Parts: sequence; C-alpha cells; structure tokens
Amino acid sequence: MSTSDCLFCKIVSGEVPAKIVRESERTVAFRDINPQAPTHVLVIPREHHPNAAALAAADPALLGEVLTEAHRVAVDEGIADSGYRLVFNTGAQAGQTIFHVHVHVLGGRDLNWPPG
Ligand code: AMP
Ligand code: ZN
Repeated sequence: MSTSDCLFCKIVSGEVPAKIVRESERTVAFRDINPQAPTHVLVIPREHHPNAAALAAADPALLGEVLTEAHRVAVDEGIADSGYRLVFNTGAQAGQTIFHVHVHVLGGRDLNWPPG
C-alpha cells in the first residue's frame, strides 16, 4: 500500500532525500528535519499505514519491528542507557502532520514532561 502524494513514501522510494541512519527490509530510520532534541530520528515502515493503530491492526509484527528498530537507533546514538522517548502522534489535535505512521525517537537531553 502506498499513496503517491505521501512525503514519507517518497523518502522510502528515494524520490525525496533524507538523512537515513538505519534501514531494514521493512523499515527506514532518518533524522527529523526539525529536530527537537540532540537525537531526533523518525522510524517508519516502508509500507504506507496512516497511524500506529492502523499498523497495529494490519500488521502487528511490523509495528514490533518499528519499535525494535527505534531501540537500535537509540543504541547507535548512544542514548539507550541515558534514556529516550518514543512518540506516536495520532490525529491532527495531537500534532500529527504526516499521515504515514512514524515513531519519533528523542533523546540526548533532559526531556521535561509535561511539555510547556
Ligand atoms: P508528526 O507531527 O508526528 O506528524 O511528525 C512529523 C515530523 O516529520 C515532524 O517532526 C517534521 O519535522 C518531520 N518532517 C517533515 N518533513 C520532513 C522531511 N522531509 N524529512 C525529515 N523529517 C521531516
Ligand atoms: Zn506513505
């Protein structure tokens, strides 16, 4: 499944460039263009699914692989021990702007919660 006007499908196909940090057969990880922390990487499945719940329903093993890859990114970035945050925004009011599921891997500084 893919949508021709999806930015992240274009990153998967190579049509849009990205700073790719990891790839697996079914996933791609690349640096966020507007980083909110010293490490800010997005991990996506190559297949188009609109959000985490849709991916969980369609292919739970692939959602598991996205999370495994997110942890590997944290290890590669040296933040697995200090700590990192995984975020799936779902829906416009949560701030989801790209409707191809992606998990944000954030770390490398103290992440205050709640925000603001
Ligand atoms: P979200 O708000 O959860 O939908 O996250 C979308 C994220 O994609 C934002 O953090 C953007 O900074 C990021 N983003 C948008 N365009 C690009 C791009 N071309 N390459 C890398 N990250 C991008
Ligand atoms: Zn897509």
